[in-house]
Parts: sequence; structure tokens; C-alpha cells
Amino acid sequence: MRAEREVILSAGAYESPKLLMLSGIGPAALLSAFGLGVVRDLPVGQGLQDHYMTLLNFRTDVDSLLTAATPENAALLQSEGRGPLTSNLGEAGGFFRSRPELDAPDVQFHAAPVPFHQEGLGAPAGHGFAFGPCVVAPTSRGAVTLRSPRPDVAPRIVHNYLTTAEDRAAIVAGIRIALEIAARPAVSALATGAFDVPASHDDAGLLGWARRSGQTLYHPTSTCAIGSVVDPELRVYGVAGLRVVDASVLPSVPRGNTNAPTIMAAEKASDLIKGAVR
Ligand SMILES: Cc1cc2nc3c(=O)[nH]c(=O)nc-3n(C[C@H](O)[C@H](O)[C@H](O)COP(=O)(O)OP(=O)(O)OC[C@H]3O[C@@H](n4cnc5c(N)ncnc54)[C@H](O)[C@@H]3O)c2cc1C
Repeated sequence: MRAEREVILSAGAYESPKLLMLSGIGPAALLSAFGLGVVRDLPVGQGLQDHYMTLLNFRTDVDSLLTAATPENAALLQSEGRGPLTSNLGEAGGFFRSRPELDAPDVQFHAAPVPFHQEGLGAPAGHGFAFGPCVVAPTSRGAVTLRSPRPDVAPRIVHNYLTTAEDRAAIVAGIRIALEIAARPAVSALATGAFDVPASHDDAGLLGWARRSGQTLYHPTSTCAIGSVVDPELRVYGVAGLRVVDASVLPSVPRGNTNAPTIMAAEKASDLIKGAVR
């Protein structure tokens, strides 16, 4: 039955589950522990996925994008649509199978003509370029839970990156691919040294480095997943007039970047809400 009014929750894979839980929709035991009344016991927040990425940074004495932001380059971009400011940073990339028997790639690879350092929070020490292999079809799952019943407190986010053997094997294979490409003459001729790369190249060394230096690729999904929290029309199970429409509804993180799949879910939702599809 169609609800008279609908609430559409689109706060993203971290905040949508938090808002549902603060509204009494979530794991009953967790809600009770925070003194919240239980409207509906659902596995909200469970199943969190993301793409875990490592960044190998190499030094170079060739100009990188670090110095691209000049008035001259801004003028070139505006007048002719050319120059370094047209860069999307991730200028090259690819998808790899870490083992030939896999049906589809488990490693995605980004390459950028600029160092990627401390998520932009630290100043990079000079020009460089970066290779970023990531686990693109992870099997590890984490959870978004609560730290407080107050809406202004961030949720507890536990990713559990690299908790499965498949994910550990994929990141090690991805780093090896990056090291192999970096050793090719065309690339090694540009590198004047290593800024942030693994020192030890055995599996344990690469994995240890991946754990220390890896980071999110900012692709969280699956915390209000279709089939467990929302139905195939994105309606929250057992709650009339409430849909979730964002990356949290994706049952697993897509094997690639998440913006387009999230838009796809939103387009589908708008058709469903308008009654244009059944
Ligand atoms: C730095 C970065 C780079 C990325 N690069 C790429 C890329 O190159 N390609 C790609 O495909 N994807 C990329 N992504 C991922 C992509 O942006 C996300 O997958 C996508 O935006 C997810 O959409 P969403 O609607 O689920 O969440 P969001 O886009 O995060 O939207 C959620 C919105 O809800 C708002 N909100 C949250 N809580 C509240 C509240 N309590 N009240 C009101 N509003 C609230 C937020 O402000 C936000 O506007 C990137 C993400 C980041 C962070």
C-alpha cells in the first residue's frame, strides 16, 4: 500500500544508519543499550564495505600537479580548456585479476601525477607521483554503530579492512603490480627516489605496509542494504512511508567507483516514487 507521505533518507552510508538508529530502527540490543526505544529491530549499520587503498608515492624532479594552481594555468584552462588544471588527478588506471582463475578483477589501480600524502592533511615534501592499488571486490565487512544517543555525535565506524584472506591477498598483489610498473624504464626514469613505498617486498612486509599506510577510497556502502534493511523498492522493512536512497542500500560495494551506482539507485528510486515502474 502506498503511504500518504514519504520520508526519503539520503544521508550517506555513515549517517543514514545513524539517523535510523536514533529513530529507533536498528539492532534492538544496541538501541536498548543507548536507552533508545525500539521501533523496528533491523540489522541497520551492519555489512559496511569500502575500497581499501594503499598509496605508493615516488619522488620526481619533473613538475607535478603540486604547482599547477597558477594564474597562467587558470587562464589557459578558461580560455582554451587546456593545461595541467584539466587533470582529474587519477589520470590513469586499470583493473586487474590478482589470480587468473578469478571471474573478474579484484584489484583496481589508480595513477596520479602528484603525491597523495596523508589525505591532503600533510604538506608533501616536493614533486612526486602516486600509484594507488585498491581492493575493489572486498569480502571484509564492518559496521556503523552508535557512540551516543545524541544526533550531533558521529557514529562509531569500524571497517574491518583486510580481515579476510582474499582481501589481504588482493592488496598484496595490487602493491606488487604497482612496484612492477614503477620498475619499468619509462617510469623509473622519472623517479628520483621513494617517498612512501614498502621497504620489504615479501608478502608479510607488503601486508604490514598496507595495514600501516592504507586508507579509505571514500566509497562506503551497504549499511542499509537491500534485502536486510530495505526492500527492493528501498522501503524500510516494517516502517510505512520511509525509504533510504543513497549508497547505503547497495548490498555490496560495486566493483568500481561508487558515484554512478549511487546515482543509478537514486534514478531508480525517483521512478519508483513517481510510480513509473513496478
Ligand atoms: C573525497 C571523495 C572523493 C570521491 N571521489 C569519487 C570518484 O572519483 N568517483 C566516484 O565514483 N565516487 C567518488 N567518491 C564517492 C562518492 O562521492 C560517493 O559514493 C557518493 O557521493 C555517495 O552518495 P550518497 O548519496 O550515498 O552520500 P553523500 O554524497 O555523502 O550524500 C549524503 C548527504 O547527506 C548529508 N547529510 C548527512 N547527514 C545529514 C544530516 N544529519 N542532516 C542533513 N544532511 C545530512 C551530507 O552532507 C551529504 O550531502 C568520492 C567521495 C569522496 C568523499
